[in-house]
Amino acid sequence: MENFNSFNLSENLKKSLKGLRFTKPTEVQSKTIPFAINKEDILASAETGSGKTAAYLIPLIQQISTNRKVSGIILTPTRELAQQVADVAKLLVGYKSGINLGLLVGGASMNNQLNQLKKYPRIIIGTPGRINDHLLRKSLSLKYFNFLVLDEADRMLDMGFGEQVDKIVEYLPELRQTLLFSATLPKEIIRLSKKYLNNPKRVEVKDNNVIKSQIKQKVVNTKTEQKYDELLDEITERKGSILIFVRTKYATEKLKTRLIRDTVKSSALHGDLRQNKRNRILEDFRKERFRILVATDIASRGLDVPHIEHVINYDLPQVPEDFIHRIGRTARAGSIGEAVSFVTPSDSRMWRSIEKLLDQLKNPDKKDRDEDRDQDRGQNKNQNREKNRDNNSNNKPYRKRNRRNSKSRKFYKKTSK
Ligand code: AMP
Repeated sequence: MENFNSFNLSENLKKSLKGLRFTKPTEVQSKTIPFAINKEDILASAETGSGKTAAYLIPLIQQISTNRKVSGIILTPTRELAQQVADVAKLLVGYKSGINLGLLVGGASMNNQLNQLKKYPRIIIGTPGRINDHLLRKSLSLKYFNFLVLDEADRMLDMGFGEQVDKIVEYLPELRQTLLFSATLPKEIIRLSKKYLNNPKRVEVKDNNVIKSQIKQKVVNTKTEQKYDELLDEITERKGSILIFVRTKYATEKLKTRLIRDTVKSSALHGDLRQNKRNRILEDFRKERFRILVATDIASRGLDVPHIEHVINYDLPQVPEDFIHRIGRTARAGSIGEAVSFVTPSDSRMWRSIEKLLDQLKNPDKKDRDEDRDQDRGQNKNQNREKNRDNNSNNKPYRKRNRRNSKSRKFYKKTSK
């Protein structure tokens, strides 16, 4: 697919795509858009970084611009992803189209959302909890929303939104088009797709963007008590923005405080912060007002901050799939990025699972063989996932810093930005 012309898009959309400098559709876009414009249901396995947002927004906006009876609702697992989708949607819709958008996420002003709803938005983007709040208080009617997108469906289920999504779907017309995007396709997603999708077209993006793109990987074998000093070394060696992943909300704040004390300008992002604070932190990070963001896995999915050059896995994730999402935060849209992972002896089991997953993504045929073998042994992927979670649920508390061996603050004052 050379360019977007073959999709017969509206002039308005063509102009917006030009403004965004999207000249060539990505793989997921060229596979999804023709079916979606044709009103087919779609089950797509694609991750953030593949261009999936435009893959569903372009057909939705195309349909809305040509058919007054189409309205779309997009469900995302996190508020940040919803905001990001809304930003892209605004750009694609353009200022002159007269198509209103509604962004309905938790932690944001209800009044503002009620005002948005009074304008009868034809595209609603939101998180399941807040959308259900509106449905219950009858400030939102989904009677005419006949285009549904479930974005990052696997993450939505992981976060326990299954029931909330079910409730929302009950309010939607039965005659509708549904697009489901998921990075992984475990059993639960297949079940969900059977429930919600009608004879869907299957879209598979073979080249995993994260693996294929230019991410250099570095592994630092270390001990828990040495991790902080190793981290300071990594920060000093690197230029540009760094996203550091830790396991718990508490650990983000703790590490941020420690870095600030050592004069490394940084901020922390986690689910306990109020939404406007989360937005402000992300905005400041995007605008490069500080260089280092310490985050929980809340930041591992969906965030599109093009200038992140380094991802540091200070703690490994709880499930191997999150590793792929984390490192996908760097090397966005073809840029070069680097991922560093700290691996302590107690991480060895998780690290092996991550290596196995990376290997499977690089060699999909081998993955099929492995899965067949696993099924024979009655060990499906979900069981492994649960096991990994259990193994990691007894998070060890952070050990106190060994001050004697720590790098001096003065030293870092000179080297960090
Ligand atoms: P997504 O997977 O939707 O989060 O998109 C990942 C990144 O790719 C975003 O920064 C998009 O702006 C960018 N992108 C999406 N589609 C295209 C395209 N056709 N050409 C160039 N960049 C794109």
